[in-house]
Amino acid sequence: MSHPDQEAVQLLKEYIRIKTINPPGDVTPAADFLKRVLEKERIPVKLYWSNKTTGRVNLLARLKGSGKKAPLLMLHHMDVVPVDERGWTELPFGSAEKDGYLYGRGSLDMKNYGIVQLMSMLQLARDSVQLDRDLLLLAVCDEEIGGELGAGWMVKNHWDEMAPEFVLDEGGFGTEGFFTHDDKLIFSIGVAEKQMLALNLSVKRAPGHASMPPKESANFILAEALGRVAAYETPESITPVAQAMNERLGDLDATLYNNAVRRNTISLTVLNGFVGDPPKTNVIPERSEAVLDCRLLPGQDKDDFLQELKKVINDERIVIRPVMEPKQKSVVSSYDTELFCIMEEETAKTYPDSITLPHLVIYGTDSRYFRERGAICYGFFPGPVSMEEYSRIHGNDERIRVESLKNATEIYCNVVRRFCETD
Ligand SMILES: [Zn+2]
Repeated sequence: MSHPDQEAVQLLKEYIRIKTINPPGDVTPAADFLKRVLEKERIPVKLYWSNKTTGRVNLLARLKGSGKKAPLLMLHHMDVVPVDERGWTELPFGSAEKDGYLYGRGSLDMKNYGIVQLMSMLQLARDSVQLDRDLLLLAVCDEEIGGELGAGWMVKNHWDEMAPEFVLDEGGFGTEGFFTHDDKLIFSIGVAEKQMLALNLSVKRAPGHASMPPKESANFILAEALGRVAAYETPESITPVAQAMNERLGDLDATLYNNAVRRNTISLTVLNGFVGDPPKTNVIPERSEAVLDCRLLPGQDKDDFLQELKKVINDERIVIRPVMEPKQKSVVSSYDTELFCIMEEETAKTYPDSITLPHLVIYGTDSRYFRERGAICYGFFPGPVSMEEYSRIHGNDERIRVESLKNATEIYCNVVRRFCETD
């Protein structure tokens, strides 16, 4: 048997080569791959099809414990977002290893997590470690399109088979340059996430010939309103999580990341107001529309936010319609737990000068399904990732430092072992 670190690298290479782009989102070959690896070590695996024709499958593997304590569940999604190959210097599904990096879609989001979780389970099985709680590995489909047939479906239909007290998921890294401008290594552990709200803004007015502009046209009305939104600064709100971050780090530097941690954000992501393809330059369109992608802090009420935004827009002619709303209750997981301490301690053994920090994840993860049901969820990956590397997630040349993967494998295994092993 090869060394676990090396084995993790090999497994991640194999895993990345399995194309699980979503859409279309068929993850059957990925589930088969994980099943094969787990069953070789005689770890029981069950597959749950939420839609067989489209390859929507979820995998649950279990190492039995004595049942003295409630299960720890390790969660990851098998699907990845599409790629634009023209922007890549390496093949996105080729798993090239170059200059200390392993390249590939999913190498940071989040097949890397999947592999360190898998390695943790394999090692406990190989060492026949006695456990006080069941250790579960759940690999799901569809996270990249909202998770309704993945984590959401498992929570809804198979909760009793999982019922975890704790969940380890994505939403944390050994960050460099996220929270401070210096090169301090900060291990952020996700304990909560922002709520996603997408709003469609539209306005209709009479169309016409561009040679004779009317008093009111759809595009100008919307443009003026969007100008007011752009000028609007959402109020800063220091949530308890941000407070805890401040306490451990001192005042946070003014990075874009910190800005998103401290306030509701509004991005203009869709803008559409023309007729014809290609757009006709001499036609005043009848309809103009935009979409605002809004991310709310945990605990904030979407109706209050909407009222505030209406005041900012201050124009009755504009119709505001939510196209995506938060469906789960926003819950903050306690970080005053034994597991949190273990993560901090084990990380510090490898990275003694680092700081560990509870943090607010600024995007959505599958953890929200589990938090709503009372599980304590942490986003945890104990390997360094710079802001430059992080920015490649969903972008070009996504890649992980091989060293980072190796260290993460070792730390993750130690955390899981310490937390689950019989006292
Ligand atoms: Zn992800």
